[in-house]
Amino acid sequence: MTAPTIPRLSLAHLPTPIEPLPRLSDLLGGPRLFIKRDDQTGLALGGNKTRKLEFLVAEAQAQGARTLVTTGAWQSNHCRQTAAVAARCGMDCILVLTGERPAEATGNLLLDHLLGARIVATPERRDRDRLLAETVETAAAQGQAPYMVPYGGSSPTGALGYAFAMQEVLAQGVEVDWMVFATSSGGTQAGLVLGQRVFGYRGTLLGISIDEPASALTSQVAALASDASAALGARIAFEAADVHVDDRYCGPGYGVMTDLEREAIRLFARTEGILLDPVYTGRAAGGLLDLISRGYFPSDARILFWHTGGQPALFAEPYRNALNEMPTGHASGVG
Ligand SMILES: *Cc1c(COP(=O)(O)O)cnc(C)c1O
Repeated sequence: MTAPTIPRLSLAHLPTPIEPLPRLSDLLGGPRLFIKRDDQTGLALGGNKTRKLEFLVAEAQAQGARTLVTTGAWQSNHCRQTAAVAARCGMDCILVLTGERPAEATGNLLLDHLLGARIVATPERRDRDRLLAETVETAAAQGQAPYMVPYGGSSPTGALGYAFAMQEVLAQGVEVDWMVFATSSGGTQAGLVLGQRVFGYRGTLLGISIDEPASALTSQVAALASDASAALGARIAFEAADVHVDDRYCGPGYGVMTDLEREAIRLFARTEGILLDPVYTGRAAGGLLDLISRGYFPSDARILFWHTGGQPALFAEPYRNALNEMPTGHASGVG
């Protein structure tokens, strides 16, 4: 394939390792599990946003931007990583954070401050886009040359990070029948879906939805993947039916930690020494464990779970407190 050269910064530690999860696989007694350590991408504690930002910030610099503006929740991993890239590239960073203002700066918010980001806040999620637009306008008027990094880094440009992540996995030579991951703003899944088609992965991609119904998310991911494909040569038209999302685990709402996440976090920690996060990978792994216990996958299947990062939130309320509680049941009750 001859793809045009796409502007890209080198920010991540790549390739991230793929590790087997032998103790967890044995305990569950079914499919063989592997993990792709995208929590180890580097850049201020790592995570999936690093791969997207390699393309987004290259685009920003090509446009002459000197300030990155983005948005998210108070414990946004995307905002923390954007603040880190800005520092690394000698740019300024403004974060528009939404939700109830926390009493203390812990977890990702503590890191946003350390990384020198300026914070603008609104309690109302519905005011987000207006405040974001105003912030960008003001920065432009003040000559700060802003570039707006989209929510979650999920534009066609950001999604390219995960198209190339698929190429990376295939080159690592660990053959798997399924890849399972958290999906929320859709850029990660859009990139993987595109990479699957372009680089020829024959297995199945399954996104566990964090906060959106599958009906909306599958169309959104298909549109993003289609728009991103143009940069790789020829436009490919993806449809919602090409995108697999399981939305059974998003019922409690964004960032609400229940037993599903808590048990998954404990199980990965206690069998493999791997730390998941309370919002994304805890929920996605909880969904994966539930699907395994229901016999959803053939027992000889090989499954790769993408660890997309997010651990700083473990040290922030309300998660820190919820994880400190004594367990009511025993952590090995799953599967
Ligand atoms: C942002 C994020 C995701 C979701 O990725 P999307 O591309 O928004 O779907 C998953 N895991 C973690 C830890 C994240 O921060």
